[in-house]
Amino acid sequence: MADIIRLLSDTVANQIAAGEVIQRPSSAVKEMLENAVDAGASRIELILLDAGKTLIQVVDNGNGMSETDARMCFERHATSKLRSIDDLFTLFTMGFRGEALASIASVAQVELKSRRREEEVGTRVVVEGGNFISQDVCAYQEGTSISVKNLFYNVPARRNFLKSNQVETRHVQEEFIRIALSNPHVHFSLHHNESQIFDLKEGNYRQRITALFGNNYKERLVPVEEDTSVVKVEGYIGKPEFSRKNRGEQYFFVNNRFIKDSYLHHAVSSAFDSVMSKDSYASYWLKLRIDPAMIDVNIHPTKTEIKFQHERDVYAILKAAVKRALGKYSVAPSLDFENEPSFDLPLSKLNDVPVQPQIRVNPNYNPFHLEKSTGIHPNEHAVNRQHSPAFKAYSPTDIKTWLETNRDMPSQQSFLKEKIEDGPVVELLNVFETLDDFRFVQVAPKSALAAFNRGFVIFDIPGARERMSYERYLNAFSRQQLNSQQQLFPPQIQLTPNDFLLVRELSDDLRKMGFDISEFGQNTIVLHGVPAGLDAGTEEQILQRLLEQYRLNKDKLQLSMHENLARSIARSIILREQANYSSRELRQLAIDLLHCDQPFYGVNGQSILRYVRSDQMNDLLQNKLGF
Ligand code: ADP
Ligand code: MG
Repeated sequence: MADIIRLLSDTVANQIAAGEVIQRPSSAVKEMLENAVDAGASRIELILLDAGKTLIQVVDNGNGMSETDARMCFERHATSKLRSIDDLFTLFTMGFRGEALASIASVAQVELKSRRREEEVGTRVVVEGGNFISQDVCAYQEGTSISVKNLFYNVPARRNFLKSNQVETRHVQEEFIRIALSNPHVHFSLHHNESQIFDLKEGNYRQRITALFGNNYKERLVPVEEDTSVVKVEGYIGKPEFSRKNRGEQYFFVNNRFIKDSYLHHAVSSAFDSVMSKDSYASYWLKLRIDPAMIDVNIHPTKTEIKFQHERDVYAILKAAVKRALGKYSVAPSLDFENEPSFDLPLSKLNDVPVQPQIRVNPNYNPFHLEKSTGIHPNEHAVNRQHSPAFKAYSPTDIKTWLETNRDMPSQQSFLKEKIEDGPVVELLNVFETLDDFRFVQVAPKSALAAFNRGFVIFDIPGARERMSYERYLNAFSRQQLNSQQQLFPPQIQLTPNDFLLVRELSDDLRKMGFDISEFGQNTIVLHGVPAGLDAGTEEQILQRLLEQYRLNKDKLQLSMHENLARSIARSIILREQANYSSRELRQLAIDLLHCDQPFYGVNGQSILRYVRSDQMNDLLQNKLGF
């Protein structure tokens, strides 16, 4: 009898391997995007037709391939990333098996175009069903484009196994999101059947998350950071109150590779145990950095599983890191200095306004005893701020001098030292609430500043007032209706027909906010009561502005009714004229702000409170922080 064992042809071997590596369009997408990242691209486009069943094209501006490489890359075990088995343990690239392109090419019609920077012309290679078709010279931009057409066209059994376009699109999108998350410095875009689904400009991790999941995530993220000799953990967790009823936003990246790991997942979710109900899921976007020698990513061809050498340590560290982040946040979120590029300190505007120094600095000045002694700002004595003179801004020189004189205040209270672990909110509240003569100055029409031995804070006054009102009114809908202050002589207000209808439509919610309104004939209402705490004489105007703002937001933004109402009234309240504030008022404002859920950001996501610790102060005084 003849021998029956034969070596498989490469084509068949590749098709078998393809079954393992390429199960559906999303697997090809993953491999191709990773290759583009590995090629050092800063811009990567993914173009799909019919969920990738008809076309998957990835265009990158990376290193490109030489004529030989462009052909070689379709060979099995052809890789530029791994030479010996030892390299496996020092590897930070995504690919390394050299299997992906060979597998993809064996089950699709593939066209590759590529040019390296140093080359004048590009090269074009066509491979179909694992068979080399052609290679020629072509004009092409720097980088690589790979088009994969009709995936599984030659393996009908597999093609039939594909799910609906909707399902396959979801898979593709998920892969895209994972890779976009692990590479926030790369500009990614995704087009599907001619429409653009994502266009993600390069940015930091936080910006990438919000670009992918929505702008409202800005306020939902709590930073996590832990650096140990075993593992470095960084990233974000979602605040418990935004946890979801279904699984979803749970991302682990180990050395920038997305992984699924139920053990690590358990570490995170158990850290959430005490702050979340059992039927909801925590969201997280965590990146672990580990010495590649301490992990083995080689255990599954699609590489979403990983083996850790110090599994228990990693578990413990991860859990502790998340707990700590939650602990800080449960009092309030911690300060994120790596902020959005639009970060705009109101104070920086001072640079444009050259103002003569007005204030003589008192060398004996001590911010811990003041109010009674020599003020450094005339505003202190402005009792009736409506009639006080126009506000005079401090010049940058004044501020520097002021900070320099006040920075080395001896610590009045030893507890200030002990509390350093508590996160900025608790730390600041401790100082402001305990020392009741703690001194604030208004350094610009909209900015207030206070310094103490550990640094200084600066906050945006209208931004703070808006944030406080917003949270207060928003709570009025979900928790407790606000008190209404009855008017002695309830005014009649004539509204436009539209506003009249709007008041009618919103009447229940206006009542919860503290507006007690009745209708009085055509387009006229009577204002019996107003939210307690509004400045006397401004109520009517505030209601009118509230309606106007509500209408405006409705056209511009997609907000829920309550969100819109809370934003509108907060905005109406701060539209009042500029005022000068006394130190006492500013201190109270700062304390109220720190009691907000989100003291660091304004209603529109802008930064409104900044705490600069003394170790960062030197940079600041040398103009390095943008002042
Ligand atoms: P691996 O990524 O595991 O090395 P692949 O089959 O995915 O294997 O790719 C084979 C080789 O083709 C890579 O090692 C790389 O040299 C080259 N390559 C693939 N895609 C690109 C690309 N977009 N730009 C430059 N080179 C690429
Ligand atoms: Mg690869």
